[in-house]
Amino acid sequence: MQVRPAAHPDDREYKRQGHRLHMARLLIINMSIETAELFLFALVGTIPASVAALFFLVSFAAAIGFYVFFRLGLNLRFTRKNLLVPQLLVYGSIQIGFMFLAPKLSVLFLLVLVVLSGYAAIEFNPRQYTLGWLAYGVVTAAALILLGDRFSYPGHSNMEVGLVWLFFFMTLRSLTLANAGFSRLREKLLEKNRQLEHSLHRIEEMANRDYLTGVYNRRHFMGLLESELQRSARNGRPFCLVMLDLDWFKAINDGFGHPVGDAVLQRLCLLAGENLRAADQIGRIGGEEFAILLPDAALDSGYTTIDRLRAAVHAYDWGQIADGLQVSFSAGVAGYCAGDGVQTMIKRTDDALYQAKHAGRNRVQQAGFAPEDGERQAGPVPAKQADQVS
Ligand code: GH3
Ligand code: MG
Ligand code: MG
Repeated sequence: MQVRPAAHPDDREYKRQGHRLHMARLLIINMSIETAELFLFALVGTIPASVAALFFLVSFAAAIGFYVFFRLGLNLRFTRKNLLVPQLLVYGSIQIGFMFLAPKLSVLFLLVLVVLSGYAAIEFNPRQYTLGWLAYGVVTAAALILLGDRFSYPGHSNMEVGLVWLFFFMTLRSLTLANAGFSRLREKLLEKNRQLEHSLHRIEEMANRDYLTGVYNRRHFMGLLESELQRSARNGRPFCLVMLDLDWFKAINDGFGHPVGDAVLQRLCLLAGENLRAADQIGRIGGEEFAILLPDAALDSGYTTIDRLRAAVHAYDWGQIADGLQVSFSAGVAGYCAGDGVQTMIKRTDDALYQAKHAGRNRVQQAGFAPEDGERQAGPVPAKQADQVS
């Protein structure tokens, strides 16, 4: 059972405290296994039973002590709330101390020290880990020097060899327990990374979108146009650029109110989404001005597409938004010509839009060809014009 720390009632701290208690429990398990093994060595006569009993008392006092400390939430008063360093110091000192009380098992105590370092790896940064490693070197060297010729192998009887094997075998298990915490941490980190990427993607999406209509904003649309131009310059595939402007929109705002105007802009974008292909891209480049990219569309089919949208918008029952509301748009459409750049293409499309407005609105006007083509440089050629639908 986990105790909710009174001083830190938030969920994250609660979870962390739960994890600390889990680690404290793991250390109790480790100590129990080691104690049991020491009693087995006492049973076969490698060490006196009193040493195993002392180990039991000391290690359990330490393990239970830390566990209770965590359970009471006393650790929360410290900056490093997991008390990893004090725990490692206490458990490490116990191992070093028992090298002197049971020198025949010194190798095994040294091995446990290595396992404890597995716990340190969870928390320490590389520098702290190196410092810990050097401290380990100094302390163990001093211990080995002080032990002198008392340092020996546990013994060669079948039972002792078997127990040495068991010690290594169980110690390896302890190491994997420590690493389980490590891999849980890694999993969490991966999950956090995934969430972060997702949020970043959403933020990018939001930064590219117009807040009112949800279509791309001017900045992002211009980037798309630039990419489309580069692609067509490379592979010669056609595409169309459309500039679309709502007719008499100021009058709509004035007559029906700004919120109705907003609703018209939103509905227009929905209608565009329904009437265009998935690959077509729409952007709001001004108040009631939109631009559309029609990839893989030659001028004729681009014209047909936009004129179909124009007819759909004009035929739409705008009375759903406000009684007596009527909406139409005028548009210019230009097909990509070799040598076109962002500016030339926008200029030709804009000119065509201007012509459509001038010719009476609610119509689509095809743009002339690229200015670099000498023969066609005379200006926009009204190749086709939709009849006004009244
Ligand atoms: P034309 O047919 O010549 O395009 O006439 P128009 O009235 O549509 O053109 P004009 O440029 O005079 O008016 C555009 C209007 O669009 C003026 C402005 O208040 C309105 N507008 C711009 N952005 C928004 C917006 O986000 N919401 C609403 N409701 N109106 C907007
Ligand atoms: Mg306008
Ligand atoms: Mg307008």
